[in-house]
Amino acid sequence: MSRRPIIAGNWKMNLTVAEGLALASGVRDRCNRFRGIDVVVGPAAMALHPIIKRLDGSAIGVAAQNCHWADKGAYTGELSPVQLAEVGCTHVIIGHSERRTLFGETDENVGKKARALHDHGLIPIICIGETLAEREAGATIDVVRRQLDAAIAPLEGDELARSVVAYEPVWAIGTGKTATPEQAQEVHAAIRGRLAEAAGKDVAEQVRIQYGGSVKPTNIRALMAQPDIDGALVGGASLDSDSFARIVSFKEDAD
Ligand code: PEP
Repeated sequence: MSRRPIIAGNWKMNLTVAEGLALASGVRDRCNRFRGIDVVVGPAAMALHPIIKRLDGSAIGVAAQNCHWADKGAYTGELSPVQLAEVGCTHVIIGHSERRTLFGETDENVGKKARALHDHGLIPIICIGETLAEREAGATIDVVRRQLDAAIAPLEGDELARSVVAYEPVWAIGTGKTATPEQAQEVHAAIRGRLAEAAGKDVAEQVRIQYGGSVKPTNIRALMAQPDIDGALVGGASLDSDSFARIVSFKEDAD
């Protein structure tokens, strides 16, 4: 089946609000004309609202980079799915490896977040991926399965079908080292196989699985040529509207 590609930019803790607005305008001007693809930007939390207003009327989605699973409460410093939905976010990145390694994000919490996001009409971008040590120990598939199982356990089939999974080998994030298209495809196929075991082949065929890890204009086309790679989660190269637009327009006929 043909899945609609989805390219998302994770801006991480970069850019002031003014810089983010300028980048959002550049992305809108360069990417809004592409019709056959979903385009999402992921600004820092304080820039979400102004950027959503700036992109009003465009087809470009806006992702938060994290959330809590509770609707509200005594969780200092957190943002709830209710708050993110209210300002107009469309997606939320959860389980990013930086949150897992630097901020103690657990597999179980990623599942709670996925559940809460669907309760409020938001699409989770569920990040999973192995470290270099895990890859070298031959544990890649076991690790991504464990992370995936925990994230999707609380979801119904139709919710899972609307979710996005981002396979991001930790050793490829921000390092300039990209998994080869074949290495990525091997893991993407295993992820889709696991989704089929969990929720059936129909659902598994609908889930879009992004690759993330040093994606650039020069490597996107080969990655997207793989049968189970449906898009990209882009860090560094999403901070420049020209390079992001060149990734989004990976096929000339994308519009
Ligand atoms: C990321 O952090 O999600 C990412 C893929 O970063 P980069 O593209 O910079 O490797």
